[in-house]
Amino acid sequence: MNLSRRIYRLSPSQLSAETIAVTFAKTSRSPEPFDQIAAELDAEKSSKFSEKWIVGYGHSSVAEHAVLHLALENISRLAIETLESNRLASYTEKSTRYQEWNPDAWVLPPEIAGSRYEEKYRALMRLLFDGYARAMTALRSWSESVCERLPEESEKAWQNRARVKAVDVSRFFLPAASMANVGVTINARALEYAIKKLLSSELEEVRQIGAEVKAVATQELPTLVKYANPIESFAAIRASFRAEAADIAVEPEGAWCKLLSAEPAGEEQVLAAALLRFGGSSYAECLSHAQALASGEKTALVDAMLSPLSDFDVPLRELEYARYDFELIMDQGAYFEFKRHRMMTQTPQALTTRLGYAVPKAMRLAGIEALYRDAMNAAADLYEELAAWQPEAAAYVVPNGFNRRVLCRLNLRELFHFVRLRASENAHFSIRRVALQMAELAAAAHPLFCSRLCVPAGQSARSLTEEYFTDTVAVPHADS
Ligand SMILES: Cc1cc2nc3c(=O)[nH]c(=O)nc-3n(C[C@H](O)[C@H](O)[C@H](O)COP(=O)(O)OP(=O)(O)OC[C@H]3O[C@@H](n4cnc5c(N)ncnc54)[C@H](O)[C@@H]3O)c2cc1C
Repeated sequence: MNLSRRIYRLSPSQLSAETIAVTFAKTSRSPEPFDQIAAELDAEKSSKFSEKWIVGYGHSSVAEHAVLHLALENISRLAIETLESNRLASYTEKSTRYQEWNPDAWVLPPEIAGSRYEEKYRALMRLLFDGYARAMTALRSWSESVCERLPEESEKAWQNRARVKAVDVSRFFLPAASMANVGVTINARALEYAIKKLLSSELEEVRQIGAEVKAVATQELPTLVKYANPIESFAAIRASFRAEAADIAVEPEGAWCKLLSAEPAGEEQVLAAALLRFGGSSYAECLSHAQALASGEKTALVDAMLSPLSDFDVPLRELEYARYDFELIMDQGAYFEFKRHRMMTQTPQALTTRLGYAVPKAMRLAGIEALYRDAMNAAADLYEELAAWQPEAAAYVVPNGFNRRVLCRLNLRELFHFVRLRASENAHFSIRRVALQMAELAAAAHPLFCSRLCVPAGQSARSLTEEYFTDTVAVPHADS
């Protein structure tokens, strides 16, 4: 037996994803080296093994070694939401910030195609995409007039800066039906559940995508996604909670960002966990030690934990012992970015036009506020008509400008990451406002840690609101 260290790759160009997973699974009982195990496998043996151990005996974690790269093109942004609700995967999608949308790049959902609403739907799509194109032209000349060219800046760099300002605002017109491309890297275990969720959707487009993903994945994973079928219990659970929720009053909105809870001892819990990690005492002993420290001593420990970190370092995992629950209302464009943060628990409400819409100040400054408000009103009108008939498919017509409610729970480590990325000056102003408001509320609850969240100097949620928005919430037809 060779006892020298060997580290090498099992190449997906030579072995199928399923054979790699079985090779790793077999090391649990076989003393042979991996390459030898792999050499003894063929598609039939791998499939038999997977069927017996992974599917039959439920040793599902082995399927995580089979990884696929899936390319999905021209699917609606609404469908992408179901796909990306699977957090154990990696995604990169077409950006509303770096690309401009083709006027025909929208999905006609199977529910609406051929229905009495098809013509109205097509007319609204034309209106929204035409509004988007007109907004882009108006905003571009406005932003070139207000963006001063910097002394060292090239013509191209200056124009690009002005263009980004224009796309960032024009995107408020784009509906959830807009097409996008997304690249997905996912392991077979997560993929099986993803397919089940896609197949259980109330949207026909999403169910079709689920069936196509299953067919494509089966080419590489003949056994591991074979039993990915719709989840029957979903429909019953949805029906029970919809019925119960229908009886709850809908009150006018209060604050758009609420910190619902943060443990009062959250900061001491983080310190106690770090003391436990680097010491020999129990958690109870570490916690009472942390709680007994004078405020200056606690500050010194927080310093010791955070100050040595460079911009590229990740804070200690013990930050995860402090958690925050937020209820947020943000425009759909911001939500589309927010949902990408997989380390949070997120519960979005259905996308509707009933929480009003945001009005970027630039729409007014570029002289297209009326164009924008008319488009939002038209979208809200068709949304209501469709919602009375087919509430799920109605969401396709909702533009990015409309607000969405999301409940989320995250820990302090993720809060550091989220705020660093999304409060930064190169992020979109909608999500920056969310990140800044969350940071401000968390800092009031846990000042020792959260006053150190990475927030650009002199900026706040309020200053951003004043700089970028006219109303906090605009109600459809309130202006007419
Ligand atoms: C300037 C900028 C431009 C962007 N442009 C685009 C774009 O054009 N298209 C697009 O699709 N997205 C874009 N994004 C979104 C970005 O790629 C992230 O998906 C998103 O910000 C979520 O952050 P995250 O992946 O760091 O982490 P989260 O999901 O919040 O996770 C937190 C951290 O956990 C770790 N982690 C979580 N999951 C994994 C995993 N599967 N593997 C390894 N580590 C993991 C990482 O350390 C990660 O930083 C952009 C973001 C920024 C800031």
